[in-house]
Amino acid sequence: MSHHNVHIHPAVDDGVKRGSDSFTGGKLHCHCGSDRVEVTIDAQCAHNHVCGCTKCWKPEGALFSMVAVVPRDKLRVSSHEEKLKVVDPAAAIQRHACTGCGVHMYGRIENTGHPFHGLDFIHTELSHDEGWAGPEFAAFVSSIIESGADPENMGAVRSRLQELGLPPYDCLSPPLMDAIATHTAKAKGVL
Ligand SMILES: [Zn+2]
Ligand SMILES: [Zn+2]
Repeated sequence: MSHHNVHIHPAVDDGVKRGSDSFTGGKLHCHCGSDRVEVTIDAQCAHNHVCGCTKCWKPEGALFSMVAVVPRDKLRVSSHEEKLKVVDPAAAIQRHACTGCGVHMYGRIENTGHPFHGLDFIHTELSHDEGWAGPEFAAFVSSIIESGADPENMGAVRSRLQELGLPPYDCLSPPLMDAIATHTAKAKGVL
């Protein structure tokens, strides 16, 4: 049984693009008609995935966001930084959103003790450049229910994710959960 009627995210609904090994970065633009915020990234992204949490920015009508990381020293705002505002200054990830169109341009962790400090979160769909590494898994799948997704439909959602080659997890992927636990263990001195 196929689940093509389940719409995960516009960037993956017709199949997942895998990206290019020789790709070295590009530009992201917000959705404003003029004076667009531009972010320049001098690196390929890593750990790209679709995310079901309620915090990540996602396009209208999508069940999931699509989010990846890049080293923070490889990211800079190259146009209209004055339009950016942090969505929730108390959140671990400070999401810098355009005050004109609402799109999140990048998320940054300022807490130096956080396992993912040094990495910025980006949405590669905001780029016209081709070659970004494609999504590899689905994170926080159960959380889409918190945004109003029908709990009865979760079987079809997980089947569709499997079909797309995006293994569904209800937290992050095992390598990332292991990285967080390793960081915590080292901070506690047990490793
Ligand atoms: Zn904008
Ligand atoms: Zn998320």
